[in-house]
Amino acid sequence: MTFHVITLFPGIIRGALQDSILKKAQDKGLIQVEVYNLRDFAQGKHRTTDDYPYGGGGGMVLKPEPLFAAVHHIWERTSDKPKVIYLTPEGTLLSQALAKDLAQQKSLILICGRYEGIDERVRLHLVDQEISIGDYVLTGGELAALVLIDVTSRLIPGVVGNEDSVKRESFYDNLLDYPHYTRPREFKGMKVPEVLLSGDHKKIEQWRKQQALQRTLERRPDLIKDKDKNMKEEG
Ligand code: SAM
Repeated sequence: MTFHVITLFPGIIRGALQDSILKKAQDKGLIQVEVYNLRDFAQGKHRTTDDYPYGGGGGMVLKPEPLFAAVHHIWERTSDKPKVIYLTPEGTLLSQALAKDLAQQKSLILICGRYEGIDERVRLHLVDQEISIGDYVLTGGELAALVLIDVTSRLIPGVVGNEDSVKRESFYDNLLDYPHYTRPREFKGMKVPEVLLSGDHKKIEQWRKQQALQRTLERRPDLIKDKDKNMKEEG
């Protein structure tokens, strides 16, 4: 899968992809991240990418011309006309379910906003989907784009070494994760639950399911309600 990222700060994106799982995924050719500097698509001596908002008010707005030029540049060089996503606090909240849908795409274009955001005409005529990573305001869309790349990539087969572990993580089947323990058996008087040392796989599985359910009921009962709703809708 290819992520085409349009940003004023390519270093933020590149820097975060140089280590660990996402680096390995790129080395193996499972994902590709192409970064485009918005300034390269701006016109004039100063290559200006932002301007004052019509109607006044504080803050600058990213101009439409460079964003249109960048997206068309990518479309001209790709066979599948990737969908355009704008990262914004006004978008649909990113979830595991949404990431699963995104992971089905061959490629995506991600627009990272800055300042007050981007000219509305880009949103109306170029953007296919707006996605938020949470109900708070970041300084720019780069961290949001990285979150989207991370959560989507790990759903691509082969990116995470142990695929079974992806299936058992939080939000799979609308449940949070169960507690994890590693050695030592006892640390400062705190013991690992006996059942995990029993070697009885059936009992361990039951304990984990029960812990995941209890944790979800305590912390995120809304997930269980959503699951019930989905099951009823599916008939
Ligand atoms: N004026 C905008 C508003 O009130 O919704 C906020 C602009 S914010 C300072 C600058 C950029 O950061 C946005 O254009 C967007 O790309 C990105 N951004 C900020 N918060 C975000 C979030 N929660 N999710 C995704 N992108 C976000």
